[in-house]
Amino acid sequence: MELLVKHLVVDDIPVELRRNKRRKTRMGLAFDPAGTVIVDAPMDASDSEVCAVIHEHARWLRHRLAKIRSEAACVALPRHESGELVQYLGNAFELLVSAGGQSVSLTHRDPQLDLFESVQGIRGRLTITHPEPTAENVRGLLNGWYTRMAREILGERLAYWRHLPWLDGESPPWRIRFMRSQWGSCSAAGKIALNTHLIKTPGRLIDYVVLHELCHLRHHNHGRRFYGLLTKYMSDWSARSTELDRFLPVLLHE
Ligand SMILES: [Zn+2]
Repeated sequence: MELLVKHLVVDDIPVELRRNKRRKTRMGLAFDPAGTVIVDAPMDASDSEVCAVIHEHARWLRHRLAKIRSEAACVALPRHESGELVQYLGNAFELLVSAGGQSVSLTHRDPQLDLFESVQGIRGRLTITHPEPTAENVRGLLNGWYTRMAREILGERLAYWRHLPWLDGESPPWRIRFMRSQWGSCSAAGKIALNTHLIKTPGRLIDYVVLHELCHLRHHNHGRRFYGLLTKYMSDWSARSTELDRFLPVLLHE
């Protein structure tokens, strides 16, 4: 997807305007959990057309933004200190920070349990050691660990779906990125990006995002045929999508 991104403020509303080759006519509105309106517009939409749309819906947009900001404010951002709970595959782990050589290790209370499939709960401890265990250094090690785990597990889930009839038995090109406003994307050229933060959510929600993006390789839009295809392979995708909304605040974690 070729994107041209521009930031505007319309009637005190922060707007991120994305011009998108894939969009032909209508504009799409979405919200960043940090409190920005995201407008997906066709390439030829002018700034003034976009401003007119925002202006027309300003009341409703302000109302939605206030709600999103207040929900986000209730979620404490990680402080990277011992005792706090960190998320992995929808399970919580107690963080233990100590001084020593750099390492990250996860101890499950129940090693038999498959975390990817499990019913969520507090599952054990994540130990991080660093010669200088400041919040900043702990965050660096933790995010590095999340990135490694995401690469491994999201890669496995993409491979799991490789026998879909339009894939020729191979995973399409993909990458991971920490993103603030979307769980995944699929470019017109067929490149998939998955949000590294997905590794914090339950396995069934990861599978939903992976399949959603893979279906975009067949249909590059959210039309009827796209949803028909998604439903064929995952009949309960809509419930999973709703469940994923509960995890939106993790997109704010840095
Ligand atoms: Zn989509």
